[in-house]
Amino acid sequence: MNETDVNGAGVAGGCPAQAMPIGPQARRATRRVAIAWGARQVRVGGAGPVVVQSMTNTDTADAIGTAIQVRQLAAAGSELVRITVNSPDAAAAVAPIREQLDRMGVDTPLVGDFHYNGHKLLTQYPDCARALSKYRINPGNVGAGSRRDDNFAQMIDVACRFGKPVRIGVNWGSLDQSLLARLMDVNAARAQPWEAASVMREALVTSAIESAQRAEQLGLGADQIILSAKVSSVQDLIAVYRELARRCDYPLHLGLTEAGMGSKGIVASTAALAVLLQEGIGDTIRVSLTPEPNGDRSREVVVAQEILQTMGLRAFAPMVVACPGCGRTSSTFFQELADRIQRYLREQMPIWRGHYPGVETLQVAVMGCVVNGPGESKHADIGISLPGADEAPVAPVFIDGARDVTLKGDRIAEEFQAIVENYVRRRYGAALKDPG
Ligand code: SF4
Repeated sequence: MNETDVNGAGVAGGCPAQAMPIGPQARRATRRVAIAWGARQVRVGGAGPVVVQSMTNTDTADAIGTAIQVRQLAAAGSELVRITVNSPDAAAAVAPIREQLDRMGVDTPLVGDFHYNGHKLLTQYPDCARALSKYRINPGNVGAGSRRDDNFAQMIDVACRFGKPVRIGVNWGSLDQSLLARLMDVNAARAQPWEAASVMREALVTSAIESAQRAEQLGLGADQIILSAKVSSVQDLIAVYRELARRCDYPLHLGLTEAGMGSKGIVASTAALAVLLQEGIGDTIRVSLTPEPNGDRSREVVVAQEILQTMGLRAFAPMVVACPGCGRTSSTFFQELADRIQRYLREQMPIWRGHYPGVETLQVAVMGCVVNGPGESKHADIGISLPGADEAPVAPVFIDGARDVTLKGDRIAEEFQAIVENYVRRRYGAALKDPG
């Protein structure tokens, strides 16, 4: 009798797992938007790699402080960086920020975030409009009544004149109230009215798509528009983006707004983004983490990269597989070693990226005892199985699946790091020299 796979199909004489579909669905077909500064061009959509972006939290009027944070975010791997442009002083600082970045050799495109007064700032500060590579316009925050249309048109006109793409970024915290009222009226006339939450989701989607269509009518190219519709609930975000994906072919910027601090923000963002990315939805992502006081802003970039890398969508930096530790762990040494190796690998990446093509796919295992240590280490490119409680104080190292050397004594950490470094040089340095 044939076995049956998870979809109910027969699997003749084989393992059901062989028939399980794995990996994300094909990326949704979208237009491709180019976001450029100088020779640097970041392409969003068109089934290209999912782009990682972030946002500063400095006062944009502080040009030096903002440029320094943009550089930190870019060094962490942010491919686009958004800055708020909320006042005349902030708008006046944008061109100096750009110049400072250019002097520092940072060519990451800057995105300007506008609310309420964007039409004035973009028209009164042409240097700001020119120095930005993309504008984010929130259609819920461009004014009310006839002013809304005029203000929106002014911003699109600037984008057309300077050849800049635009993200139509709807947010349910600032949803266009006139549109919501219109949809509520439509809903009230239904024989079976929808729930209020469904009307709200529909308003988000409609606001994004109608604003994009209006931008096109005003002359902006369809290939210069990216959409987002952010909410703070995971299930709402998934529902809204599925609908957006169904109804348009603009690239989509994914992000859970107000995700929160620490593990809550990381888990919520990952839960929402992973479902959509797995369905092929999403062309650029931002993880909106609230940093701890004096925390590192670039954490949001690392989290975004790790979401993409752990899903197998992109590779940014070597990953360390480490066991959680348990009662068999004889000390915290293995935690310290895992942390040390992870930090070391990340710190090397700015140099390694240029010297060792492919190094970002390296997998290193740091394991706490013999139970899973050798097995997991064999699956990695390099692994070390540290001694657990009551085990002999030796640490076998596995390279490419085979036991290589056994470390012992007080310098295991230093020796293992040297082994990793030699492996990288040998394996990925060879790739650089080999023209094939
Ligand atoms: S590998 Fe060993 S120390 Fe690590 S979690 Fe498993 S049993 Fe515990």
